[in-house]
Amino acid sequence: MNVGRVVEGVLKGERRAVARAISMVEDGAEGLPELIGGVYPRSGTAYTVGLTGSPGVGKSSLAAELVTAARQRDRTVAVLAVDPTSPFTGGALLGDRLRMQSHATDPGVFIRSMATRGHLGGLALAAPEAVRVLDASGVDLVVVETVGVGQAEVEVATQADTTVVVVAPGWGDAVQASKAGILEVADVFVVNKADRDGADEAVRDLELMLKLGPDLEWMPPVVRTSAQDHQGTSDLWDAIEAHRKHLDSSGELERKRRARILREVEDMVSVRLRRRAAQMLEAGALEALAEDLVARRVDPYRAADVLMNEVGPEGER
Ligand code: GDP
Repeated sequence: MNVGRVVEGVLKGERRAVARAISMVEDGAEGLPELIGGVYPRSGTAYTVGLTGSPGVGKSSLAAELVTAARQRDRTVAVLAVDPTSPFTGGALLGDRLRMQSHATDPGVFIRSMATRGHLGGLALAAPEAVRVLDASGVDLVVVETVGVGQAEVEVATQADTTVVVVAPGWGDAVQASKAGILEVADVFVVNKADRDGADEAVRDLELMLKLGPDLEWMPPVVRTSAQDHQGTSDLWDAIEAHRKHLDSSGELERKRRARILREVEDMVSVRLRRRAAQMLEAGALEALAEDLVARRVDPYRAADVLMNEVGPEGER
């Protein structure tokens, strides 16, 4: 496969090339470093929004609402639905969802779900690479929707410029969300299903929690929506825009993105090191060292030094 051609296609915004590139990310394909090397210089212009919250609160429905809002404002938009629970959903999950179908033929909309089939870094590394591909393809807005509330999902959602935490009426969700630690990462709160009883209480609870919490430079607004009734979407859009303006004017956007990319490189390095160490273990390279350790001829610090020296120069992905 010609990676150069995929890169070229992505940079021209060709959907097939974009889809292909995201599959390469999912698979951890051999040409991935070349792909990312090709698209990276042209990325950095898209704004990214992460949607997270318990299953069933309405994240997909809200993603569809945001797509509509973006198109009404003449922005191109991509939705990336990230599913860490299943390595096999890639491609089908979101495309199958009826409520997205009204956007299916719009060339200004790209919708894709992803899992990680072979990417060594798991979703924490794969998701930002997929976002980078979409970014380089020229879309204005990338919405990353995560399925579930595990650690990986929270991590993925917080890699966005604006992280939106969605809850639905009823304490169950808020408690669950709080357990998973996702309340702390919110830049914007959404109480979806506001057409249902208990929305007022949910808003009140969140506002109280924010009031009792630390004084923040940016106080996350609490927005009510009903994705089902198409209510509150503009408020959500405005809240995201307001956060973006805050990030822009405070210089925080640049700092946030810089920290994010460094973190990604750090993750990449630890993934490589772990992999290399595992390979060495498997190859029995540590047997002699183990003997020395057990016989007290070598101490653990020195053993680690020896390993680091051997691991270092390999430099493979
Ligand atoms: P996700 O799992 O968080 O992505 O949630 P979905 O978007 O798949 O929605 C879960 C269910 O809630 C679906 O049956 C939706 O039709 C429904 N739903 C989504 N938004 C609303 C809403 O605002 N009000 C009501 N009553 N139902 C909604």
